[in-house]
Amino acid sequence: MNLFIMSIEEIDKAVAKEILSLVKRKPNCVLGLATGGTAIGVYHQIIKLKNAEVSFKDVKTFNLDEYVGISPDNTQSYHYFMHTNLFSHLDFQMQNVHIPDGLNYRQTLQEYDNEIEMAGGIDLQLLGIGSNGHIAFNEPGTSFDTLTHLVDLKESTIKDNARFFTSINDVPKQAITMGHASIMKAKKIILIAKGEQKAEAIKKLFKEPMNEQLPASILQSHPNVDVYCDDKAAEYLKKEGE
Ligand code: PGA
Repeated sequence: MNLFIMSIEEIDKAVAKEILSLVKRKPNCVLGLATGGTAIGVYHQIIKLKNAEVSFKDVKTFNLDEYVGISPDNTQSYHYFMHTNLFSHLDFQMQNVHIPDGLNYRQTLQEYDNEIEMAGGIDLQLLGIGSNGHIAFNEPGTSFDTLTHLVDLKESTIKDNARFFTSINDVPKQAITMGHASIMKAKKIILIAKGEQKAEAIKKLFKEPMNEQLPASILQSHPNVDVYCDDKAAEYLKKEGE
């Protein structure tokens, strides 16, 4: 894993530029996309930095996850998040956009990984990290073998995500998520961590051996992973002079 420590603005610009350069080089590339506070800045920079040479019309996208039980037009859904923060600003074609269906999820569970494979596999997967070390909604203890599946969210994740809801009681208790094995098939992975609440998980990611209690640690066995951290998320790594 390659580690880059920079300011939040520099991270957003660097990752946006990498995505834009991939789309320019391979206009029909497959992007694995993430939601959450971490990804918003990257999407804003993509919209800002995109020039006329780049088109998203042939780009296929697969989102990591979606809450169970809320419809795509619910403002808390990840469908809504993606349309508001990215898709509606650029020339994405909706038939190329894939987000797990949180209502008819049985269908998603059966088909999502096949659809990714049929699209040619993910060229670049964007990831955040939970304060408990989760990637997508793969909570600690999830088997490293999993494909897209249904999860019960941990209390820590529900608390972390309550900031996006009116009350913690409104946070869905379940989600559909791509599994570790789905994520590991991506050709390249970029993980971004911003803020002190991610510092502990980032420390463990670089210091602990791969173990299922720290979902992100599976990335140690992937050949092409870039980890971008701001100063706060990298706090414990920097203290030790790394
Ligand atoms: P965040 O979530 O970007 O909202 O911090 C990241 C994650 O939980 O994977």
